[in-house]
Amino acid sequence: MVGLVTRCRSCGGRLGVTMADLGLQPASNAFVTSLAAAHEEKRYPLRAKVCESCKLVQLDYDVAPQELFGNYVYFSSYSDHWLVHARQYCEMARRRFGLDARSLVVELASNDGYLLRNFIEMGVPVLGIDPSDTVAAAAQRIGVPTLVEFFGESLANTLAADGRQADLIIANNVLAHVPLLNDFVAGIAVLLKADGTVTIEFPHLLELIEHVEFDTIYHEHYSYFSLYAIEQAFSRHGLRLYDAERLPTHGGSLRIYAAHSNRPDLEDGALLRTLRAEESAAGLADLDTYPRFAERVENCRQSVLAFLATAKNEGRSVAAYGAAAKGNTLLNFCGVTPADISQVADRNPHKQSKFLPGTHIPVVSPEMLLQARPDYVLILPWNLQAEIRQQLQGIKEWGGRFVTPVPMVVIYP
Ligand SMILES: [Zn+2]
Repeated sequence: MVGLVTRCRSCGGRLGVTMADLGLQPASNAFVTSLAAAHEEKRYPLRAKVCESCKLVQLDYDVAPQELFGNYVYFSSYSDHWLVHARQYCEMARRRFGLDARSLVVELASNDGYLLRNFIEMGVPVLGIDPSDTVAAAAQRIGVPTLVEFFGESLANTLAADGRQADLIIANNVLAHVPLLNDFVAGIAVLLKADGTVTIEFPHLLELIEHVEFDTIYHEHYSYFSLYAIEQAFSRHGLRLYDAERLPTHGGSLRIYAAHSNRPDLEDGALLRTLRAEESAAGLADLDTYPRFAERVENCRQSVLAFLATAKNEGRSVAAYGAAAKGNTLLNFCGVTPADISQVADRNPHKQSKFLPGTHIPVVSPEMLLQARPDYVLILPWNLQAEIRQQLQGIKEWGGRFVTPVPMVVIYP
C-alpha cells in the first residue's frame, strides 16, 4: 500500500504513460516547524500516470497516510461558501428524491456534519461516516450521528446486515482521496437501496487538463477522474451513472448521479450525454492525449521562472499568498526558494510562523505581508483570487501588483 504502484487502482491495467512528472515533493501539508528540522524532511515522487486500459489518471507512488495527514485537520464549516453550497444541495436532494422521515441519508467523509445537519433540520434521518475522530466529535456535538470508520465493502456489509441501507449516499470530494477505489465503490453498491441514488462530487479531469491545473495534483489525491474512467469503475460494481451537473468548485467539478445498473426507469440526462461527448472530443479515451499535457506543464514552469528572474533583475520583491497544497506543488515543481519569494501569507494561524514544505518559505500573517510592501503578490490559490485581491487591496498604495501562476503569469495593474 505504500511505495511504487505499477497497476491501475481501478482495472489493474498498466500505468505506462506519464501525464505529469512533478519531481520529488514532500507531503503538501507537512509544514516545517523550524529550519533546523527541515533537513529531516522526506520527499516522494509526485507523478500522474494514465492507465493504458481504462485511462484513469492516478499517482504511481503512494505515501503512508500518517505522512500525509499527520495532525492536520480540515474543518469544512470554516468556509461560508461551502455552507451555502451544502444547503442548496440538500434542498434539491430532498425534493428530487422525495426524502422524508422514513429515508436514510449516508454521507461518506462527512467531516464535521456541516452538510448532514441540513437534512436533520428537514426531519430526514442521517448517518455520517468519517475516519477522523476529531471532526466526528464536532459532528456529534451538533447532533449528527457519525461513525468513526474508513468506508469500504466490509463496513457497508455490516450496515446492510443491520438493515441500514441508504436512499441517498453522498460522497463529496472524497473519491480522489481513496487509495482502494474498488473497495470503496463496492461498498457504495452494497449500502445503496435498490431504488437509491449516490451523488458524488469531484474535480473534473477535463477541466484540469484544459486549464493546466497541474497544481491540484498532490499526494493526497490518488486519482483524477474523467467520466470515461469513473463509468468503467462503477459498472464493474453494478452501478451506472444517469445524470451529471457542472459545479464551479475546485477549478471545475462534476456532481454525478448513479444508481444500480438494473434501473430501466432511469434515462441518461442530457448533460451527462453532453459531457461524454466533450470528453470524447477532447481525446480523454485516447492515450496520446495525456503526454501533451506534460509539455504544457513545463511551459507553465518556464513562465513562472521567467517572471521571478525578471522581478529579481529589476530589483522588485515578490511575496506569495495562500499556504495551501496547491501552492506547494507549484513552488516545489518550479524549485522556488526564499531568495525568490521572501514570504507567503496565510490567514490560518496554525500555519503562521512555520515554513512551507520543500521550499521553506516562511509563512506570515496577511498583515505582515502588507507591512513588507512587496512589489508583487503571487496568488497561489488562483481559484480564490477575487477574495484575496479584495483582502490585499492595500498593495495599491505603493503600486504593488497581483500575479496568478496557472496557467500563465498574469499581472493585474
Ligand atoms: Zn485502469
